Amino acid sequence: MYRNNFTRREWFQSASIAAGFGLIAPRLLEAGNPRIVPMMIEESAKAKITSRLLQRNISLVEGSGGNIAVLSGQDGKLIVDAGFRVSKTGIKAALDGIDGRPIKLLINTHWHTDHTDGNEWLHEAGATIIAHENTRKHLAVETRVDAWEYTFAASPASALPTKVFSSERKLQVNSSEVRMKYYTPAHTDSDIHVHFVEADILHVGDTWWNGVYPFIDYSTGGSIDGTIRAAEANIAMLNRDILVIPGHGEPGHKQDLVEFRDMLVGIRENVAKLKREGRSLNETLAAKPTSSYDAKWGQFLITPAMFTELVYVGV
Ligand SMILES: [Zn+2]
Repeated sequence: MYRNNFTRREWFQSASIAAGFGLIAPRLLEAGNPRIVPMMIEESAKAKITSRLLQRNISLVEGSGGNIAVLSGQDGKLIVDAGFRVSKTGIKAALDGIDGRPIKLLINTHWHTDHTDGNEWLHEAGATIIAHENTRKHLAVETRVDAWEYTFAASPASALPTKVFSSERKLQVNSSEVRMKYYTPAHTDSDIHVHFVEADILHVGDTWWNGVYPFIDYSTGGSIDGTIRAAEANIAMLNRDILVIPGHGEPGHKQDLVEFRDMLVGIRENVAKLKREGRSLNETLAAKPTSSYDAKWGQFLITPAMFTELVYVGV
């Protein structure tokens, strides 16, 4: 069984990378380390927040939790995802560095804290918060994520999305059409994408982790099969080769999402076969069903063993 794959020192070294990658526990579904989430927040507080222009009037702000996209213009700033609240100073400086326009709208791609913890200060700074109805539902109450060994307190009212939708929503902001669409349960049960039509940029939240095994949150409706369905939906959207922003990792293109989908499907098949044969989780881990993918995908905090376990419980 993979137990404490990381020494404490290794964990802290990797956690600075992880600050930009969200919350990842070294032992996922066993009794684990309840310090993981606090450590991630501490590391985000120290991380350097950077910003760069992608295309047209869309910028990317990185360094605190999930990737933050910013659409700016005469109507003010529309922001996708909020990072951790401890990064307020760095994120605010990055936003001010884009231009002096005020923050008007915030869209949450899903409820996870590395994408929503900054909601409260961004709302106080002027943002109306938009999300899928399940994002509001989870943020409004105490929510346990078993794999993180962590229970998130209910968010204050000012941090909750006030404009929620169940299927699709469109906005016209800064002479741009912004289309939001729900995936059905995937990484959680609250995932949406945000499509900036004129800029040709699609933010897909945590339905895509570029180049690393993804986390899957079974505690709030995520599953390997839902994750695969979302990957297929993303690829189906990309009839033109538009720029895609993942929840974690660098922006990429259709071919990167195809590779991600193929990895998910390949590992699911391998793990499902072992489980059908009656292998226990430990026996499945010993068979190393991810081995042909590990060199590319298994070099980050979701280790091959962790990802195997996340797939095993869902097939
Ligand atoms: Zn997430």
